[in-house]
Amino acid sequence: MTIGCFDSIMVEAPVSEWSVESISGILPKVDIIIPLYNEEEALLTLYKQICSVIDNLPYEFTLYYVNDGSTDGTQKIMQGISERDSRVIGLELSRNFGHQAALTAGLDRADGDLVITMDGDGQHPPELIPEMIKLAESGYDVVIAQRLDEENASFKSITSRLFYRLINTIGDTNILVGAADFRLLRKSVVEALRSMREYHRLMRGMVAWMGYRTIILPYQQPDRLGGKSKYSLRKMLRLAAHATFSFSLIPLYLGISVGAIFLLLAMAEVIYVLRFWVTGDQASLAPGWSSLMFVLLFVGGSLMITLGFIGIYIGYIFQEVKRRPIYLVKEKQPGNEITDKNGEIENKGTRWK
Ligand code: UDP
Ligand code: MG
Repeated sequence: MTIGCFDSIMVEAPVSEWSVESISGILPKVDIIIPLYNEEEALLTLYKQICSVIDNLPYEFTLYYVNDGSTDGTQKIMQGISERDSRVIGLELSRNFGHQAALTAGLDRADGDLVITMDGDGQHPPELIPEMIKLAESGYDVVIAQRLDEENASFKSITSRLFYRLINTIGDTNILVGAADFRLLRKSVVEALRSMREYHRLMRGMVAWMGYRTIILPYQQPDRLGGKSKYSLRKMLRLAAHATFSFSLIPLYLGISVGAIFLLLAMAEVIYVLRFWVTGDQASLAPGWSSLMFVLLFVGGSLMITLGFIGIYIGYIFQEVKRRPIYLVKEKQPGNEITDKNGEIENKGTRWK
């Protein structure tokens, strides 16, 4: 087996001067995790881009590709790459579990001193990797790459800005605007992240919540190398809901506040009506069918909203207490097995830790 980049998966990889075996134990280990969902158009180009960066760096790299139930040729290309490059480990999930679950699958396997997560569509430039590692070596535990193209007026960019504003206003955790899932984490941070097994996950929020010594590295986001965005409006709304309800209890308090306002209004109304009775002017009180109906509907509506919020949280609690695994791995492949604390080999994908 050789390491080093190759031009096409049809040809043998060029023999590199040094092998992973000869340097292991001496050089720091850096793992790169890349979730893939229908990325056949970008996969090989990105792989070559990554190679051209990491081949010249004095570290022991491992690339973890996580195929998140792709329906195109992603799996084939991924296998082709991992067969030819001993640094690449391919992992196939049993279905599409979503970006955050795919990232989790990779993080559960990574054992490098430093772990980098990046997208598989080329929008996270591998050229940033040396800079990220340098920052980690200077003592930072978390290096977050921040997109700089937030000012354009595309639908995605506007909704993304709104999303961050909302979550930062109502949530307890401040999430950096434009911080996608391109970041470097030190081993200790990855271990801490691994202990957080919630089902509704927003990695950028979880990393922000953890704290640690963090630095931001701004970058200009290039276009996708191919294919189209996998975040449909539905998936974006789902992510926003996960972020809102798993990072904040404000919607519940909102319901309580609205309820309290209505109680005050009801008391004010009692005083208002009593005034007519005290002054003996009760005859001038109109039957007021329409206003009664209005109040009834309004109170009913606010009650429904409050109940709805409570319902959502109960739904979330239900999903969390089920303790289902966050993802499942399709088949046992080299790299799927993980040694647990007792030294036993387990397939992390099918067992809840
Ligand atoms: N992705 C995934 N599962 C999904 C959706 C996306 O693994 O269900 C991966 C996708 O292949 C890419 C990354 O997550 O590597 C980010 O997705 P995308 O580029 O579509 O998001 P965007 O850049 O549009 O926010
Ligand atoms: Mg993208």
